[in-house]
Amino acid sequence: MTQNPAQKPDSIDQDQFLTILSREEALARFEAALFPRDVPSEQRKLADALGCALGEDVVAPIDVPPFDRSNVDGFAVRSSDLASASEAAPVRLMLNDEVIACGVAPARPVLSGTATSIATGGPLPRGADAIVMVEYSQPAGLRAVEIRRAASPGQFVAYAGSDIARGEALLRTGTIIGSREIGMLAACGIAEVRVARKPRVAVISTGDELVQPGEALRSAAIYDTNGAIVTAAINENGGEARFVGAIPDDEAALEAAMRQALAESDMLVLSGGTSKGAGDVSHRIIARLGKPGIVAHGVALKPGKPLCLTVCDGKPVIILPGFPTSAMFTFHDMIVPVLRRMAGLPPRSDAKVLAKVPVRIASELGRTEFVMVSLVEGADGLIAYPTGKGSGAITSFAQADGFLKIDALAEQMPAGAESEITLFTPHVRVPDLVIVGSHCTGLDLVTSPLARAGLTVRSIAVGSLGGLAAAKRGECDLAPIHLFDDKTETYNTPFLADGLELVPGWRRMQGIVFRNGDARFEGRSAQEAVRSALADPACIMVNRNQGAGTRILIDRLLGEARPDGYWNQPRSHNAVAAAVAQHRADWGMTIAPVAHASGLGFIPLAEEHYDFALVKARKQRSAVQAFLDALASEEARNALTKAGFRPA
Ligand code: AMP
Ligand code: MG
Repeated sequence: MTQNPAQKPDSIDQDQFLTILSREEALARFEAALFPRDVPSEQRKLADALGCALGEDVVAPIDVPPFDRSNVDGFAVRSSDLASASEAAPVRLMLNDEVIACGVAPARPVLSGTATSIATGGPLPRGADAIVMVEYSQPAGLRAVEIRRAASPGQFVAYAGSDIARGEALLRTGTIIGSREIGMLAACGIAEVRVARKPRVAVISTGDELVQPGEALRSAAIYDTNGAIVTAAINENGGEARFVGAIPDDEAALEAAMRQALAESDMLVLSGGTSKGAGDVSHRIIARLGKPGIVAHGVALKPGKPLCLTVCDGKPVIILPGFPTSAMFTFHDMIVPVLRRMAGLPPRSDAKVLAKVPVRIASELGRTEFVMVSLVEGADGLIAYPTGKGSGAITSFAQADGFLKIDALAEQMPAGAESEITLFTPHVRVPDLVIVGSHCTGLDLVTSPLARAGLTVRSIAVGSLGGLAAAKRGECDLAPIHLFDDKTETYNTPFLADGLELVPGWRRMQGIVFRNGDARFEGRSAQEAVRSALADPACIMVNRNQGAGTRILIDRLLGEARPDGYWNQPRSHNAVAAAVAQHRADWGMTIAPVAHASGLGFIPLAEEHYDFALVKARKQRSAVQAFLDALASEEARNALTKAGFRPA
């Protein structure tokens, strides 16, 4: 986003900065440039039509069933013959000389005083108007049968056209063809249907940094997430996606790829390169691809501001923001409606629920903001936790149950507000066990047997203090915490409030992490290692965030010293190990399992207690009991030990 002042500002970029549109305005302009338009259709064999939208009304060409038929095994009779039949006074009927099985056309009429043996599905013979079940009959010699019940006219007869009547509108245009629709069509003998042709959508990821999943990750590269996720979301919403690949930020190469993709498709979706960065070129290419070109570039959405909506000679070309979460939100909010319309599908109907938001959410004035949430069952209704890790995080999307919307004119959503949640699934799936607090990889080892037993576990990482607050409000079952109290020099217990009890978890060895072979650290104690690091001005450390238990240990070791790297304060154990492994720092403090998993050297310093604040009021819930059992089990203790933890 930085503009080099020496450079003449790009005039297109300038325009776009001046015209940020509201979400509604941008969508309205985009739709006005694309619709009305015909939905092209194609013939498809029934077996290939699953999931397609019907392209025309289907009128039933025949009656189903095509003839009056028996619904049971029994005898075709004239009901008037049986008016006096009863258990005490059975009526004797002469058997006609045929048996009507399925697929057998009857040859003889049922005259008064006679009956014809008939199977379920057999066509009703001439003269008969009812069926008597075989259970209410008994043979009377070889040629006759006795009936012990009266029969009303039409009894057990399915009349021609009673299921589907010839000429009846069977299915309407736009109906999604599922197995039931296929069944109706097959029953009418229809082998092919006209369906809306799925729009062919080409997908291109842009960026020098992108590597396809399955390939090795080179340094400073990331895996292409948008390519896979956009392709899947297009297919989920009635399109036929074709993933072209990730194209580097090279104007000529990208233009060639875009032109070819557009020529072969009805729609083109790119991601990345839509900010105003130096390498961001796709929006400039679009201006050359066709008329009218850019319809909106810059939408007052969060996440998703750099969304670029364009139409090139009648075909939509969209540039989604690069960050996967931004890309997905804008795709679902702004592109799905257009894609479904082009695919002849009805608008998607999303399920919504009301939930209380326990924490305040700050919001930028002037932008419609979407916040992803995880739902848990509170004491009186649903609670929606924001799961946001920033628009660069993919898990905030995958782990959320849905999202809430903060109006463009609101500066915040206050704690305790009731909000409408749009669900990602058709129904709320409230988890059986809710764990809110500090995350640890050891947790997954304890909860995996619960998952195997069919219990759903939701763990929401908000840090120890956030977890304690949630536990005090009764919004979770357990809050994992690792809080060191300076005064008492103990872990966790001093932080418990009324209504909470401590369940011991496990110990995590904290220590200094360094690259193997580094003589400044190898073979030394933690104190010596830090002294030798401080003695070398070229040595760079990586710190931890304020409030982390680990930070307290680091500050104790450093005393007054503030070496290079002190202000680099990532929020997780893994980030510390990554910084050291990738040579951005030479040492830091992390937990032993993380250091070992990264193949780094480790000097143990102190054990940290990772325990659980249990909400007493929820202790008797079966999922909580299952968790406590799992925690105490041999299986979990062995797994924890193997991973480098020490069960308490
Ligand atoms: P850009 O708009 O190209 O500057 O991208 C913004 C951010 O999104 C950068 O951090 C990119 O690395 C990231 N990004 C762009 N495209 C993708 C992609 N296909 N998958 C994952 N991340 C991406
Ligand atoms: Mg890029």
